[in-house]
Amino acid sequence: MSSRMMKSIIAQKIITYYKIMSLKGKKILLGISGSIAAYKTPQLVRLMVKAGAEVQVIMTESAKDFVTPLSLSTVSKKTVFSQIQNGEQWNDHVRLGRWADLFILAPASANTLAKMAHGICDNILLAVYLSSNCPIFIAPAMDEDMWLHPATKNNVKTLQSFNYHFIDTEHGELASGIIGYGRMAEPEHIFEKISTYFENRRSLKVNVDKKKVLITAGPTYEPIDPVRFIGNFSTGKMGVAIAKAFAELGHEVILVLGPSNIQVEHDHIIVHRVQTAQEMYDTCVQHFESVDIAVMSAAVADYRPAHAATEKIKKENTKDLKIDLVKNPDILNTLGHVKKEHQFVVGFALETNNEKANALDKLYRKNADMIVLNSLQDENAGFGYDTNKVTFILKDSPAQELPLLPKDAVAEKIVQFILSSPKIKR
Ligand code: C5P
Repeated sequence: MSSRMMKSIIAQKIITYYKIMSLKGKKILLGISGSIAAYKTPQLVRLMVKAGAEVQVIMTESAKDFVTPLSLSTVSKKTVFSQIQNGEQWNDHVRLGRWADLFILAPASANTLAKMAHGICDNILLAVYLSSNCPIFIAPAMDEDMWLHPATKNNVKTLQSFNYHFIDTEHGELASGIIGYGRMAEPEHIFEKISTYFENRRSLKVNVDKKKVLITAGPTYEPIDPVRFIGNFSTGKMGVAIAKAFAELGHEVILVLGPSNIQVEHDHIIVHRVQTAQEMYDTCVQHFESVDIAVMSAAVADYRPAHAATEKIKKENTKDLKIDLVKNPDILNTLGHVKKEHQFVVGFALETNNEKANALDKLYRKNADMIVLNSLQDENAGFGYDTNKVTFILKDSPAQELPLLPKDAVAEKIVQFILSSPKIKR
């Protein structure tokens, strides 16, 4: 065997070791619903338990037709829950939902997927699912026709928009005898996905020191008089998702949030609520020196009325109303030009034509380290949508296009990209 091959085998073994180690001490909920693939779940439990995870199994009544609670409680070394009520006792689904670091639904039948998508709660598995606030993984299993049915496809789409992680079905023999798609992924593959997920989070945590991050989000409102303003349709979803993604990894975030309906509460996020571009600018300038990273995702109004009337403008007194506008300060441009060598500054660009060239121009003009480009030509992307399609525009490397993803997933990608840039990485 060549030394190169040898090195690659050793590297593979190290990666596998770290992945398996990443499950040590993790609390995992396994939700089993009624599908023939349920007979494979004791093997999945064994793999997770062997890797040091604590596994709590919850199953629907119909899952019991395919695998027994006794086998599952034996391998998980825990009582299996299948009913909300246990004699005189109540199985506390809220406690269970909050206990877990991750919830994997495997197999997820067509019926359970549909109920999950619509918030139906008629068994303990669904009650725990609705009470949980951990990452959710779903390994569907059903016959091919059911899997390809538009109703199932819509349900999957809905669940994807909640930022859940789907473990693709595999091609092979199905319970009906038909060869096709819809087979649940093998327990080893499910295990691999879960351990990779924990390993990625762990490596982002250990490879990067705790950083301080300044983020702008939402619109700004520029008053015309006490009751009217110039604003835009930004909701703040994207910027808030980025703030949360940094905070989840333990970084300290200062979020400067324009008028948005989103409530943000997180131990690692300090929120400064502002109304106008000038207030957003002042708050950013005040904090910029202390941060390592700045992400300017707010849709800042470029202009404001030169004079805001102190009293409501009466339409009876004015025929044609003309408002003089003056330019607002450009926050990104200001920070980009005063940034220190170690500071990483990110801007956003919403373009309608010549997108990449315009974004690249913005990158240089505002002296940012990266521009996240949204194109208005992409369906379901941009203001108000829960999904977004972005491209990273950089100075020294080619543009990187991401597929259409839930905004939370886009936020994670942006955060991972920033944290793994040479400026930021230890
Ligand atoms: O020039 P344009 O408005 O297209 O640039 C968009 C980027 O600049 C975004 O990152 C936005 O948050 C930022 N920006 C800013 N202050 C402004 C205008 C835009 O920080 N006044």
